[in-house]
Amino acid sequence: MTSIWELANPQLRDLAVYQPGKPIEETARELDVDPGAITKLASNENPLGPSPKAIHATRAAAENAHLYPDGGGFYLCKAIAARLGLAPENIISGNGSNEVIEFLGHAFLNLDDDVITSEYAFIVYKLIATSFGAQTIETPSPDFQQNLDAMLDAITPKTRLIFIPNPNNPTGTLISQRKIDRFMSRVPENIIVVFDEAYFEFLDNPPDTLRFVREGRNIVVLRTFSKIHGLAGLRIGYGIAGADLIEVLQKTRQPFNVNSIAHAGALAALNDDAHQRETKRVVDEGRAYLQEQFTEMKVRFVPGMANFVRVNVGDGAAVFERLLARKVIVRPLKGYNLPEWIRISVGTMDQNKKCIAALKDVLK
Ligand SMILES: *Cc1c(COP(=O)(O)O)cnc(C)c1O
Repeated sequence: MTSIWELANPQLRDLAVYQPGKPIEETARELDVDPGAITKLASNENPLGPSPKAIHATRAAAENAHLYPDGGGFYLCKAIAARLGLAPENIISGNGSNEVIEFLGHAFLNLDDDVITSEYAFIVYKLIATSFGAQTIETPSPDFQQNLDAMLDAITPKTRLIFIPNPNNPTGTLISQRKIDRFMSRVPENIIVVFDEAYFEFLDNPPDTLRFVREGRNIVVLRTFSKIHGLAGLRIGYGIAGADLIEVLQKTRQPFNVNSIAHAGALAALNDDAHQRETKRVVDEGRAYLQEQFTEMKVRFVPGMANFVRVNVGDGAAVFERLLARKVIVRPLKGYNLPEWIRISVGTMDQNKKCIAALKDVLK
């Protein structure tokens, strides 16, 4: 009998399926406990939940769920553009910002092209590049700082896209404005640079990359409603770029890629400044608490810029399992070639305290 692998695209053979944070329901089932007893700090979700305005708007939008959505998300793109001082033609909405990464693959990648990113970068760039048959060049990042000079040096005639997550997940480190400016002054015009800014709203002094969109450079900035807005389950994010580049990406998307409920929720969340401010406050406070505790416990950590902290626990996989048994889900980073590390998302203070108590118990 013919193996299905003789029929499937060969680049899929070695492609690993994305490993998400372990779900609450699955853990509750395995431990035979109530889902409410589980603390999940594994996927950098908003500990306060969605914006109450977004919940209200999604309920109202459900009344019209029999109608196909406005595929382009006219009102949302208009509102995002107005906030950024850009035009609606500079915005494309995606089924999560991850879908915009896939649009970039459809638009710019062919078999054997090169994509450049950093070692320890968000894994989705490589998954999508691989699915299009492109190679991913990962430049070394020995001190966990992404090295933009190394990325420039790695450029080949086949390089199409460079992915720069800022701050990066899972390392949590941020690239400065000065380094970004220097990089942008040297990167060739024929390469598309993608700044993934999923955690932008958590930064105190975020670098400005939209200036390069305004200057007409070949850059795409990715943002999402999954993190500070608390809408990860609705799957909605967006890309920001020059109108000509967005026009290309529009041709790559399915007619109704983002559903009407997500568009309505995102629009309401965008305008809920109070919820964003409160989320940042809770995250700032929680991150400071976690880092203070790690210092006291003498465990090594990398100060986080976003809503998560990376901690060296010696054997990440074992500590992950032992925390699970104590009803706390974190993220082991073995898949990122960081086997000693776990990533802990900042939760509510109650969740943070439960996590620290469990970790103390596990490490004693
Ligand atoms: C969480 C995250 C995203 C968000 O992806 P969505 O598809 O919008 O949920 C994107 N990039 C990075 C680096 C992230 O950590």
